[in-house]
Amino acid sequence: MNSPLRSCPALAARVSSLKPSATVEMSERIRQSRAAGRRILGLSSGDPNLPTDPRIIAAAEKAMRDGDTHYSTPAGQPALREAIAVHEKRRSRAAYDPADILVTPGGKFALLTALMGTISPGDEVLVPEPGWVSYGPCVRLCGGTPVALPMLDRVDPQVIAAKITPATRAIILNSPVNPTGRILPAAELADVVEIAQRHDLWIIFDQVYADLSYGTPVAFPQDTEAGRTRTLVIDSLSKTFGMTGWRLGYLATPPGVAKIIVKFLQHSIYCVPPFVQAAGIAAFSLYDELAPRYRATFRARLERGVATLSTVAGIDCPMSDATFYLFPKVAGDDVAVTKYWLDTIDVAVLPGSAFGPAGAGHLRLSLSLSDAELDEALERIAKAGIGPSAN
Ligand code: PMP
Repeated sequence: MNSPLRSCPALAARVSSLKPSATVEMSERIRQSRAAGRRILGLSSGDPNLPTDPRIIAAAEKAMRDGDTHYSTPAGQPALREAIAVHEKRRSRAAYDPADILVTPGGKFALLTALMGTISPGDEVLVPEPGWVSYGPCVRLCGGTPVALPMLDRVDPQVIAAKITPATRAIILNSPVNPTGRILPAAELADVVEIAQRHDLWIIFDQVYADLSYGTPVAFPQDTEAGRTRTLVIDSLSKTFGMTGWRLGYLATPPGVAKIIVKFLQHSIYCVPPFVQAAGIAAFSLYDELAPRYRATFRARLERGVATLSTVAGIDCPMSDATFYLFPKVAGDDVAVTKYWLDTIDVAVLPGSAFGPAGAGHLRLSLSLSDAELDEALERIAKAGIGPSAN
C-alpha cells in the first residue's frame, strides 16, 4: 500500500484504512467554525460537561503528593478493584472476585483489551447498529471483521442467527444504547445469552451509561450464571462521574480470564496512573451523592429537549430510557438536516446514519451543554424547523 505521506515509508493498513470517527470529525468542524468566529452550540459530543467533583480532584492531588507517581500494578490497584467489585454487585448483582477486574484507561481501552484477548485475525464480531462509532474500528485493530447487527428497536434472535457464521467469535452489546438511549430488556439479553451459548460466542457488554437510567431498570447479561461465564463487561467512570479526561474504566471478566488478558496491559500501557486510580476510589465513595444528582440533571435536560423538539414539524422525539442522548426520528434526510442546522443556525448535532445505516432517518442530540446554551439551541431549532430536505 502507498503511503499517504510521500516522503516516508508506508503506514500499516490496520490504521490507515480506519474511517475517522464521525463524532471526532464533527468536533473538529465545530472547532474550525469557532476559530472562524462563529458561535456554534454543540450537541454532538459525548462528553457530559460535568466538572469533576473537587473531592475527587483532591484525592488525585494527595496521591501525587504522597508519592504515588510510579509504575503501579498492571491489573489495577487492589482497593480500586475491590470498590469496582462492590459497585458491580450492587448494580448488576454479579459477584466478582477483584482478581477478575482489570483497570483500564477508559472504557474504550477496556473494549480494545477485551477484543485483544478474544479476537484472532479472521474472526467475525457482531456489532450493534446503530451503535457507537468505535466498535468496528476496534474489532479491525485486532484483525477481526465487524458484522453489523441491526437493532434499532429491538434485538431480534432471528436477525442474529442470520448473521452468525463459523467465523463468528463474539457479539458486542451496549445497554443503555448510544445513540438511541434505549435500555435492552432482560428478555432480549436472555435471547442473546442463549444464542451465545449455542454458538460458543463471547458477549462483550458495554454498560458505560448504566448509571444514567431514568426509571427503567438496566438488565445485565452477567447477572445470570450462563451469561456470567461468557461475558466481558466494559465500564467507565467517564459518564457516571464526569471524568472523561481522566481516562479511567474497567473490564470485568469471567473467572480466571483477567489473569491472562492482563498480559496485554503489561505490554502496552503497563498501568493506569496510580493517582488517577486514587481519584477513582474517591469517586466510588461519593457515588450515592453524585450519581443521583447527575441523573436528575440529565433527566431534566432530556425532558426539556423532548418538550421543545416535539413541537417541531417533522420531528418525532420520544423520551430516552437512559443516557444524555435524544434520538428523534426526522421526516427528512438526516445528513441534510444536520448540515442545514450547522450552516444556518450554528447548531451541531449528528446524523443517525453516522452510527450505521440502521440509524438513518434519525438525529442524535447530546444534551451535554449548559442549560442556558441548551435552551438557546432548542429555540434556534424550533424556529428553523428541519429545513428544505423535509419529506
Ligand atoms: N462505550 C460507549 C457506548 C460510549 O459512548 C463511550 C464514549 N463515548 C465509551 C464506551 C468510552 O468511553 P470512555 O473511553 O471515555 O470510558
